[in-house]
Amino acid sequence: MTKWVYLFNEVKEAEKVAGGSWDAVKALVGGKGSGLLDMTRAGVPVPPFFTVTTEACNAYQKLGKFPAGLWDQELKALKAVEKQTGKKFGDPKNPLLVSCRSGAKFSMPGMMDTVLNLGLTDVTAAGMVKLTGNARFVYDSYRRLVEMFGSVVLGIPDESFEQPLHEYKHEKGYKLDTEMTAEDWAQMVEAFKAVIRKEKGFDFPQDPYKQLELATEAVFKSWNGKRAIDYRNATGISHTLGTAVNIQTMAFGNMGDDSATGVAFSRNPSTGDKKMMGEFLFNAQGEDVVAGIRNTNQIETLKDRMPKAYDEFMKIAARLEKHYKDMQDVEFTIERGKLWMLQTRNGKRTAQATVKMAVDMALEGLITKDEAVERVTPENVDTLLHPQFDNEAKKDAEKSGKLIAKGVNASPGAAVGQIYFDADMAEKMAKEGKQDTIMVRPFTKPDDVHGMIASKGVLTSEGGATSHAAVVARQFGIPCVVGASAIKIDLEKRLMNVGEIVVKEGEWISVDGTTGLIYVGKIPVTIPSIEEQVELMTLLKWADEICARKNIRSATDSGPTRGLQVWANADYPKDAQRARSYGAVGIGLCRTEHMFFEPERLPIVQEMILADSSEGRTSALNRLLPSQRKDFDGLFEAMDGYPVIIRLIDPPLHEFMPDEEKLLEEVVTMRVKGETAGLKAKEDLLESVKGMHESNPMMGLRGVRLSIVMPEIVEMQVRAIFEAAADCTLRGIVVKPEVMIPLTGTVKELDWIQPRLERIAAAVMGEKKIKFEYKFGSMIEIPRAAITAADVARNAEFFSFGTNDLTQMTYGYSRDDAERNFLITYQEQGILLKNPFQTIDRHGVGTLMQWAISEGRKTRPDLEVGICGEHGGDPDSIEWCHMIGNNYVSCSPFRVPIARLAAAHAALKHRPVVAKKPVAKKAAVKKVAAKKVVKKAVKKVAKKK
Ligand code: ADP
Ligand code: MG
Ligand code: MG
Repeated sequence: MTKWVYLFNEVKEAEKVAGGSWDAVKALVGGKGSGLLDMTRAGVPVPPFFTVTTEACNAYQKLGKFPAGLWDQELKALKAVEKQTGKKFGDPKNPLLVSCRSGAKFSMPGMMDTVLNLGLTDVTAAGMVKLTGNARFVYDSYRRLVEMFGSVVLGIPDESFEQPLHEYKHEKGYKLDTEMTAEDWAQMVEAFKAVIRKEKGFDFPQDPYKQLELATEAVFKSWNGKRAIDYRNATGISHTLGTAVNIQTMAFGNMGDDSATGVAFSRNPSTGDKKMMGEFLFNAQGEDVVAGIRNTNQIETLKDRMPKAYDEFMKIAARLEKHYKDMQDVEFTIERGKLWMLQTRNGKRTAQATVKMAVDMALEGLITKDEAVERVTPENVDTLLHPQFDNEAKKDAEKSGKLIAKGVNASPGAAVGQIYFDADMAEKMAKEGKQDTIMVRPFTKPDDVHGMIASKGVLTSEGGATSHAAVVARQFGIPCVVGASAIKIDLEKRLMNVGEIVVKEGEWISVDGTTGLIYVGKIPVTIPSIEEQVELMTLLKWADEICARKNIRSATDSGPTRGLQVWANADYPKDAQRARSYGAVGIGLCRTEHMFFEPERLPIVQEMILADSSEGRTSALNRLLPSQRKDFDGLFEAMDGYPVIIRLIDPPLHEFMPDEEKLLEEVVTMRVKGETAGLKAKEDLLESVKGMHESNPMMGLRGVRLSIVMPEIVEMQVRAIFEAAADCTLRGIVVKPEVMIPLTGTVKELDWIQPRLERIAAAVMGEKKIKFEYKFGSMIEIPRAAITAADVARNAEFFSFGTNDLTQMTYGYSRDDAERNFLITYQEQGILLKNPFQTIDRHGVGTLMQWAISEGRKTRPDLEVGICGEHGGDPDSIEWCHMIGNNYVSCSPFRVPIARLAAAHAALKHRPVVAKKPVAKKAAVKKVAAKKVVKKAVKKVAKKK
């Protein structure tokens, strides 16, 4: 018989069935269930419970009903819980009440359902009043049950219950729920029952077992609710895992002012600071805190009112953090002074907190540096380098009265957008209107998540740092401010106001999730400095150290045994400087052609192109030489000590010429107007431009082909490179120029051009009487070059994969046309899993690369290999580059930090397995002896019992 149910003390059994790893236990009994089992084992006070497995949920989804044996096992487990608590389910004298809680392998906060206070009926309620003498508490609990049962189990909209409560309070002149008396709540129980009768045509079940059965089924069903499915799609959680169900004895936080309920994070989930952050409410239950409907108390204030419970709670939280080696997100309830723990899990956090906690925990010795690096994702790093509001602009905005409110800084970052007051609108406008939206609500509910994800920022007027809006925003890295209570939101009129200032739907605001400040209008943003982010700098240094380890790649791989280096693509000295400050240790691609486009140079370039003799060309080029030399000079200086790869001219020449149609128009106008001055020159220019026309220029006269037809250009460029390098060397700068020839298709091209260029290099060094390291190499971007790499490597001292062109030519797609016309359809239809221009197609393009590397290194074992296409900044592609033996990846300066982390992740993931040393004999004997001692001790204890 399948075991569907695990009792609170059956953690061992769960481990055995799941097969050892804690991850497998989580898969079987869910994250919440595993935490409850683990806490119980550790002696933490947890209300007795049992857990129905995810397997039962999956079986239910298949069968459409409970699998055989499940209900019997639930009843049996319930008996055990009754025994443990001394209460009985459905017994009017001393009734056991339970919650029925969802809990999947990965936490999906608020996405699935939970019902509290199951077991209350008219009869047991009366019994509990007698028992506790606290009628207000009993009827508050009962009305919660009827409401939750109605909405969660029976699918009646929340509003149907909120409405009568609202009206009742209004009639009585109450503002707060706390003003409701026992009698009032008893009235609400009847009102809510009437709602169910009216909506469903039957009565709220008075049989506790029926309640339990239907609630279990509702939790199973909530796995496939819209909210849950949306959330899984957004987070990439598999749809086949299923949820577990936890049936747990109720702990009552609503028994009076000596009772409370709350949630807390063992460290600050927003900043990462090592200080607990939590909120609680006296005399409240369950989701009151998270729902953000009442103003919460800070956890520190619990110390004065309930010092004993507070101390115990702090100790437990610290212990849990140590045990799980991570920040914990815990739920607790205090019932008449007694603390109960209801949940623990690794808490969600912002990117900033992720980095800070990882570094702090490594420095505290809680985790290793490698683990710290593994905990941070490339997306986290990306988020940290995202724009933030400009400080000056913020001051100006404050002066001019644009600062309208301050709330709780729940999730950091700058968001500028147009406001929308509901999730559907926010999503619709973001998607269809293609605009930046900010979702504004009094508070959010799980049904609002789609609108939040679609928005650039979220603002609420109610709730605290652990409210739903805050938790979800942090998880998705959306800037968010909550509890900005100065803002009054009018959902009917679709506007919000702070005093006189009114902001209507569709108008712009700026939300600063880092400080909690709200501004009207748009505030300009700037890119944050990386140097000021101390923890991030430390973490990336650790990442570099991982890649620099001598044997992080096994010796059987082709090429280097160290990990990847990260270089950058930079054309200008200022880009190179940024790249260097972001940690790049080389320039993998400097494009030289834009240097020809500068306004004062372009006429000379055109003159050079139009010259009909080699002499004419050379004379124009000689005038370009000094400016080119200066460009390179700055680059070498910025990259002092590091290699700089300069690519010789690549695009077809027509790109430097005036547009053909425009020229024609000008000529025609001149003729019509009868202007003769300059007409002949224009006509000649038009003829030349026409003559340059190619039907497929990207596959035409460009790259090395152009250099062979017109070698003067690259000869000038090589002279400029080496003169600059020589000058820099004389100034004490260490230069490592590498000259890259683009678009090679056959080694014969290199045979033709490379010796000419090398002669120039030698000549310059002779003239300047100086020597320095340099290399000549080739781009690998044409499939034929990759296939014949063994030949190409005869000349090329380095390869650099130009994966944009290599992908275009391997697939036979022109990128612009593909992305515009059919790539999306291909992805939707599953023909392509990913866009191959963003992530390397390992099976095709990637395999060509792999072949090229191994063939190239057959000819030249120390061949230096890199990648300079956009893929060089993509984590998945970086992993592939690591696996096939690249020396480095080169990407845009802004992505360098991301690439450094991704390179370390790849290195750690693929590090060679070191065979474990066999335990030395002596030690082994000692271990056995120690085990025996423990066994004996255990036996002794057992006997005593
Ligand atoms: P979620 O996964 O959405 O957080 P939970 O199952 O944790 O849902 O329950 C929602 C709320 O109800 C939480 O605040 C939780 O602490 C509270 N709760 C659940 N079970 C009990 C219980 N047995 N006693 C007291 N409070 C409970
Ligand atoms: Mg819930
Ligand atoms: Mg919970």
